[in-house]
Amino acid sequence: MIPTNRELSRCGACGKPILWTLTEAAARMAVDPKPDERGNQACHRVGPRTWRSRSLDGADALPAAPYEHQYVPHVATCTPPKAKPPAELPPNVVRLDPRRRRRTRLP
Ligand SMILES: [Zn+2]
Repeated sequence: MIPTNRELSRCGACGKPILWTLTEAAARMAVDPKPDERGNQACHRVGPRTWRSRSLDGADALPAAPYEHQYVPHVATCTPPKAKPPAELPPNVVRLDPRRRRRTRLP
């Protein structure tokens, strides 16, 4: 089962498409939108725009059922862009804070 474009959201950190699912514990889990047999989450649609996921990692986890597909949790692939270094000031702009003198108090 493959999610439709309308079911996808964008990751707030990296901007890539993600699919929100609900885990068995009713927690939200974002997975990458394409099935991947390396993924440890068995997911399936349970209703309009509603997907369920369950982990396949536990010792007692059942293998993926025919109606489930494996997906990779998005946290495993999320690569947010690195923060940029502070921008340099244009050559005609002078930083004032190193030159600012302490205000002298009047007696
Ligand atoms: Zn991301």
